[in-house]
Amino acid sequence: PPSRLPGVGTTIFTVMSALATETGAVNLGQGFPDFDCDPRLTSAVTEAMQAGHNQYPPMPGIPLLRQRIAEKIGALYGRHYDWNREVTITAGATQGLLTAILCCVHPGDEVIVFEPCYDSYRPAIELAGGRVVPVCLRAPDYRIPFDALAAALSPRTRMVIVNTPHNPTGTIWHDDDMRQLARVLDGTDVVVLSDEVYEHMVYDGQLHASVARYPELAMRSFVVSSFGKTYHVTGWKVGYVAAPASLMDEFRKVHQFNVFTVNTPMQHALASYMADPAPWRDLPAFYQRKRDLFRSGLADSRFRLLPADGTYFQCVDYSAISALPENEFAMWLTREIGVAAIPVSAFYSTPQDAGIVRFCFAKQDATLQQALQRLAAL
Ligand code: PMP
Ligand code: GLN
Repeated sequence: PPSRLPGVGTTIFTVMSALATETGAVNLGQGFPDFDCDPRLTSAVTEAMQAGHNQYPPMPGIPLLRQRIAEKIGALYGRHYDWNREVTITAGATQGLLTAILCCVHPGDEVIVFEPCYDSYRPAIELAGGRVVPVCLRAPDYRIPFDALAAALSPRTRMVIVNTPHNPTGTIWHDDDMRQLARVLDGTDVVVLSDEVYEHMVYDGQLHASVARYPELAMRSFVVSSFGKTYHVTGWKVGYVAAPASLMDEFRKVHQFNVFTVNTPMQHALASYMADPAPWRDLPAFYQRKRDLFRSGLADSRFRLLPADGTYFQCVDYSAISALPENEFAMWLTREIGVAAIPVSAFYSTPQDAGIVRFCFAKQDATLQQALQRLAAL
């Protein structure tokens, strides 16, 4: 049969991780920690399994986990979701994003994405039969061009995808950005899909501008997050979606035939671990220190550091070092210098080649030091 996704190949993350393994390079490409999670969390999984939590959980997730998520969102962002009707546990944020798109987007509908954007958005929209309408963000500050957003809106616009803190650029949306978004969407029935997987990686005392803080946005939004990022367990693939009941009812119609439900022992472990707010409260300081270590290691180098307000990514402009296009530079850096990175052009539908690559600093200090020694010498 003809391909449903003819333009899609292997993701850049898989390609660069494979190259890093093959060449023995330090892998600062694909975003994942090279250190382990809190042992209390793994013990909690064993305990859940031994306590017999090994059969199907309820379709939207176990009640205690959904209750704790709703409490946490209420405490942090001030919106009180009904845990029973408005929160669903997903197989990572990726499934939450796909399911939200599949349940809303009809063939011919338009979905606005800000590029560069995370690589799963575009194929998910295409699978739903939707049309991607990119609004371009540009280096070095990648600010949201609200005029371009307003111009991109049409009667066919079904959804706008927002991602703050932003992968790959490490920028964050501010209060006035959210207010402007609310103003631009006022009077439309456009749904917002808000990818907030890096919600606890915001630095220098700044606030995470969750759409859940803004009633006029929250009423039209799916909020997506992931335990993988917050608890250093990207391989667990457990996340969640919160949305008003009218949106969540539709979400669950797709979810129950997409995955039906998400693995039980992890849900119990996460529910008990969530009783302690310290892990997410301490996360900004934990990653800010790594960001600063990485940035200070490159401060005197020929890499130009872009702002890094959130996420565990640092983008750098390498144009003082090389004139290679981003893809080739990332390959060269991996093969010849021994440090893997991700070309930012991979996050655009029309590659920009601005001479910028992304490094992930969710690594042990020793890993960062080893990479810095190699990079600072360039
Ligand atoms: N959204 C963004 C912006 C991400 O960076 C990631 C992880 N790479 C995801 C979604 C997917 O998260 P998960 O691993 O929980 O599916
Ligand atoms: N989110 C991770 C990143 O941006 C990668 C996840 C994946 O490999 N799909 O690097």
